[in-house]
Amino acid sequence: MTTSATATASTASTAALTAGTSDRTAQDRIDDPSSHRVLTGDRPTGPLHLGHYFGTLQNRVRLQDQGVEMFVLVADYQVITDRDIADRLAEHTENLVLDYLAAGLDPERATIFAHSAVPALNQLLLPFLSLVSVAELSRNPTVKDEIAHSSQAAVNGLMFTYPVHQAADILFCKADLVPVGQDQLPHLEVARTIARRFNERYPHADGSAVFPRPRALLSDAPMLLGTDGGKMSKSRGNAVALGADEDATARTIRGAKTDADRRISYDPVGRPEVSGLVLLAALCQDRDPEAIAEEVGDGGAAALKRTVIDSVNEYFRPLRARRAELAADRGHLRQVLREGAERANTIADATLAEVREVMGAI
Ligand code: ATP
Ligand code: MG
Repeated sequence: MTTSATATASTASTAALTAGTSDRTAQDRIDDPSSHRVLTGDRPTGPLHLGHYFGTLQNRVRLQDQGVEMFVLVADYQVITDRDIADRLAEHTENLVLDYLAAGLDPERATIFAHSAVPALNQLLLPFLSLVSVAELSRNPTVKDEIAHSSQAAVNGLMFTYPVHQAADILFCKADLVPVGQDQLPHLEVARTIARRFNERYPHADGSAVFPRPRALLSDAPMLLGTDGGKMSKSRGNAVALGADEDATARTIRGAKTDADRRISYDPVGRPEVSGLVLLAALCQDRDPEAIAEEVGDGGAAALKRTVIDSVNEYFRPLRARRAELAADRGHLRQVLREGAERANTIADATLAEVREVMGAI
């Protein structure tokens, strides 16, 4: 699909957030794949949804298939930023792995692990916290949005500091590319700041830097909208799960918010809800959203929703069939996590040793 139209999905706010941050090259072929390392991750708060797929998962698989070394992290400690306890954590963690494998991530080529199983990664949080100010942490627009949607009575300290923890997630393996959705751009900026300040404060004896400065890779759909017109999110009851069956998919999409104008158009700023649905059909059909809108024409919301339902169900049928096969062997999912944690620990131990050395710790 040409990117011109889809990239406008949330152009205004993306531009504000990306200022100085990242090169948006997700659709390009990566030159010299072996010189890069990718890290991304998800919170085990529920099943992955279409926003994950088109926002980052598809890019992860693409990069893996180009030969880029890939780390995919289950951010289990970050579940408790906006809730008191991590409900059904083991089940959600296994289901994330299931979604990854169904989407095409290959544990032979991608290191898949939970960050709670990698102690040295978590220890990086301490020196990293010293490199950012409280004012910087409280300004983070994504954290503010998540606080607004949190059900907790009081905001906890992890909510403000998890972007720094995320810097540890990225930098423990010295990743330089991070395929993410738009909400993650402020966090990427925190990781870049931390890498820069750490390198300035603690260079190697020969003057070389410990950490790379990671870049975000945004997709054509950096902020897919959910059925309520807000960011599609696992925790907001507005998502179509990757693994949902066809009937559940139809029910969820039929319930999506639209507007009273019968003529369907693609206008992400003026008609975000309708345009979100148009974009979803366009992504599934690999066509431009304008062409989809034109085709539905005066059919109204009901015809648009029928198109979206058919497109989603058709596109995800093979992934869902693979997912059902893989779901039969939960032991395999846990084995993938064990092996991933082993590899991640070896790398995290080496990075922590390097950090302690440049800091002069004994
Ligand atoms: P939660 O509601 O529990 O925070 P979430 O749906 O926001 O869940 P995360 O685990 O926080 O999912 O995000 C994982 C990755 O998926 C991040 O890179 C994020 O930017 C991306 N992502 C999440 N939602 C969307 C979306 N609607 N569109 C595009 N990318 C998304
Ligand atoms: Mg989130």
